[in-house]
Amino acid sequence: MSDSEYDAVIIGAGLGGLQCAVTLAREGMKVLVLEQNHQLGGTLQVFSRDKTVFDTGVHYIGGLEPGQNLHRYFSYYGIMDKLKLRRMDMDAFDRIELPDDPVSYPYAQGWDNFVARLAEHFPGERSAIERYARLVQETCDLFPLYRVRDSDSKDWMDERLSLNAEQVIASLTPNETLRTVLGGNNALYAGDHSSPFYVHALVQNTYVESSWRCVDGGSQIAKHLASNARSAGAEIRSRTRVSGFDMGPDGIRAVRTATGDSFSCKWCIANIHPAMLMDMIEPGHVRPAYRSRIKSLANTVASHALHLVMKPGAFPYLNYNVYRMLYGGVWDAVDYDPARWPSGYMLSTPATQKSTTHADAITVMTYMRYSEVEQWAGSHSTVAEPGERDPAYLEFKHAREEQLIGIIEERFPGLRAGIKSVHSTTPLTFRDYIGTPDGTMYGIRKDSASPLRTFIAPRTKVPNLLLTGQNLNLHGLLGVTVSAVATCAELVGKGHLLSKIHAAS
Ligand SMILES: Cc1cc2nc3c(=O)[nH]c(=O)nc-3n(C[C@H](O)[C@H](O)[C@H](O)COP(=O)(O)OP(=O)(O)OC[C@H]3O[C@@H](n4cnc5c(N)ncnc54)[C@H](O)[C@@H]3O)c2cc1C
Repeated sequence: MSDSEYDAVIIGAGLGGLQCAVTLAREGMKVLVLEQNHQLGGTLQVFSRDKTVFDTGVHYIGGLEPGQNLHRYFSYYGIMDKLKLRRMDMDAFDRIELPDDPVSYPYAQGWDNFVARLAEHFPGERSAIERYARLVQETCDLFPLYRVRDSDSKDWMDERLSLNAEQVIASLTPNETLRTVLGGNNALYAGDHSSPFYVHALVQNTYVESSWRCVDGGSQIAKHLASNARSAGAEIRSRTRVSGFDMGPDGIRAVRTATGDSFSCKWCIANIHPAMLMDMIEPGHVRPAYRSRIKSLANTVASHALHLVMKPGAFPYLNYNVYRMLYGGVWDAVDYDPARWPSGYMLSTPATQKSTTHADAITVMTYMRYSEVEQWAGSHSTVAEPGERDPAYLEFKHAREEQLIGIIEERFPGLRAGIKSVHSTTPLTFRDYIGTPDGTMYGIRKDSASPLRTFIAPRTKVPNLLLTGQNLNLHGLLGVTVSAVATCAELVGKGHLLSKIHAAS
């Protein structure tokens, strides 16, 4: 049993936890990060098969051009100049493909370019596309930290939070194809009929501003953040799962681990799913209404990812993502019929140093509900805590891999002949590696009908317990970064922190 006094103990070394560690350590606090996995980074983790690196979560990143929001934040964290990145196709970083339609509709980088390229396919709809572009940008202006500025009179907590993405887009044009195309990459936020327009706008704007792939995997972000946090004095322990707290009259006294260690702290920051956090707090220390509100919030759907190792030269490197709808409406995709899985997919070829012309791997992401794998929920398996999976689960995985390869081959003839090996992840993989209740992709689902109910603040009802990560404002690399700034602002002051960020960028 070790007993040390820390200013801040951070639970989870996902992007948000590591960013908080950098900030707080730089501000002179004694910081400890506890991570259950062997590898740091949460959804930034990579894995390798046949000497080929696969990302588990991050396929592309927006806002990384000098002057743009994530570039400014990553400069502050001291990682911008260290990242190996490849800019995606300027005229089509995403290609949207619809059932029974031979066109591959491009999303281009830069709003003028975005409008121009899309208007080539919808010549009579140019003004609608321009209105869409303006509305997205104006919506982003409502979020001060998204624009790397302090709060001002344009407080974002206004009625525009309740605007619904599907309805706003429908109000811009009667053209059904254009409506679908404008929602075509909504897998980026698991878009459905309840998705708020602000979520659509923040995500879309980030990628239209600029789109990038990490070369040789996104884990480099976690690696550099961890290194910078350590250089600033933070301590990071992997393979250390937090299991509970010692509570006192003023909140958390110490953080307890599954192996029986305990770490005293003045502050605790949880970079984990808030519902799991609630399970760690004994009754009597948090108001039942708060606990039940947090635990009752719905999560976004989980995912299945097919990872293919390709034979040398067998498949071209595509400097764009393909979002292909197979049936149904774009806002129905989450509610797919399991008998007709999947309703669509996103296909991406990871960027590597080895080649810019050929892909050594392909990743294909689809939705998969937790209920499809729930019968095997009793098993658990990670590198840090290995376990057995049921043979029936492995059969299920294999069947889904085969099914998906067949579907993708319809779009990319000859694909199968080029495959060297096949791998996949399911909601159980994410549940175990990220520690979410159901393998959710992006955490708590935002709802335009009750935006404030699904808004989680960094402060909790336990006085010295803060939250950070994708369940707060927004998921994704930018959303989590903004959340980390909001969380640390509670401890060091927003004005102070923003002045440091401005100075660094
Ligand atoms: C399939 C998929 C694709 C995605 N693609 C993109 C993309 O292309 N671009 C993009 O910007 N975003 C993408 N995202 C979203 C993005 O990856 C996440 O929003 C972001 O990485 C989440 O960061 P986080 O800080 O919330 O931490 P998380 O990644 O959720 O990490 C939480 C950490 O806490 C640890 N932990 C949990 N419980 C405990 C415990 N009890 N004790 C100790 N440690 C614990 C976990 O092991 C984990 O390391 C994708 C997500 C998914 C799932």
